[in-house]
Amino acid sequence: MAPEGLTPRLRELLSAQRDAGLFRRRRRRAGTVQQPRLAGRDQPVINFASNDYLGLSADARIAQAMSDALRDYGAGAGAAELVSGHTEAHAALERELAEFCGTGRALLFSTGYMANLGVIATLAGLDGRGAVVAQDRLNHASLIDGAVLARARLIRYRHADADDLRRRLQALPRPPALVATDGVFSMDGDIAPLPALSAICKEAGVPLMIDDAHGLGVLGDTGRGTLEHYHLDPGDVAARVGTFGKALGLFGAFVAGGEALIETLIQRARSYLYTTALPPALVCGVRESLRILREEPQHRRRLHGNIRHFHQQAVNRHLSFAMTATPIQPLIIGDARKTAALSDALLARGYWVPAIRPPTVPEGSARLRVSLTAAHSAAAIDALLDTLAELLERT
Ligand SMILES: *Cc1c(COP(=O)(O)O)cnc(C)c1O
Repeated sequence: MAPEGLTPRLRELLSAQRDAGLFRRRRRRAGTVQQPRLAGRDQPVINFASNDYLGLSADARIAQAMSDALRDYGAGAGAAELVSGHTEAHAALERELAEFCGTGRALLFSTGYMANLGVIATLAGLDGRGAVVAQDRLNHASLIDGAVLARARLIRYRHADADDLRRRLQALPRPPALVATDGVFSMDGDIAPLPALSAICKEAGVPLMIDDAHGLGVLGDTGRGTLEHYHLDPGDVAARVGTFGKALGLFGAFVAGGEALIETLIQRARSYLYTTALPPALVCGVRESLRILREEPQHRRRLHGNIRHFHQQAVNRHLSFAMTATPIQPLIIGDARKTAALSDALLARGYWVPAIRPPTVPEGSARLRVSLTAAHSAAAIDALLDTLAELLERT
């Protein structure tokens, strides 16, 4: 039983959240696989709310690889990696990821959230009490939480503003433990100014960490992510976090970096040490997904074709989307309640576009966030934009 007084207090908080238009509700996805066309109550719903950018989560070859591995390995890893959960499959995937990223090593984590906690807490931990971590103001919550876990002092520089970072570094008595940035910003879809950030960090002797959850598989000529997008060397960042839950279509994450960094994470990263290893069958699915990513550029080409098509059609309809070079296309509305109402109205017309509200984004910048994938048709994109233009005209 909850202690007396807890329930009324929670109800009050929930009701205040509802009044502010900030109440979050999980919409249940109908049908089975994640795909653009979903069953709806009265009509099909076109899904613009997934991170499955290349359509790989429904790829039968990945499901087959997982099902074969389930037969061989069984269901679970049975222990943490340092105990007895690190299998041949885990080791093989680490090697393949290190090669794909052009780094010495790679290390698997259960989730991107935990990879970010692990890297930041470990590097900030080296500086002991009073450690400082500098981050882009719009970084993903898991990067921010890493600094909190490390009890580090967090310095948040202006979004994508390398000059602001430089000024803040100059004002510090000693260099921070690290600078961390999203590669592609998850709620804005823009790309971090990595060449400038990396030059500043090199000059100041500060390790740079990039969270490339939305860049991996999407950006660069061969899908290697934000570094490849800018033609930077793998060594221009100290640590790169990638996730399997976005373009790779599965679940889990990794850190790629040099031998010494990875070995240090194995020794010290609490979110690596004290948790069960990824199920081997999942690991085998990720290996197959990575193979497809390397050998089949057509998925990425189709995605970028859809992004270009979206831009042209949004301009034709005078819709002021941010027009980013990534699958994430935000339309800033501002007011949280109005944004939620637009998202509801779109759903009633058969289009699933999430409303992103504070505290996920800054106050007054609530937005609709359209996520494009390789599996969308041009006709579905046009129909979404027609409907959105019509709804906006009416409000
Ligand atoms: C999704 C995401 C994460 C979290 O990854 P999970 O594997 O889902 O925990 C971390 N960082 C960014 C930028 C993300 O978009």
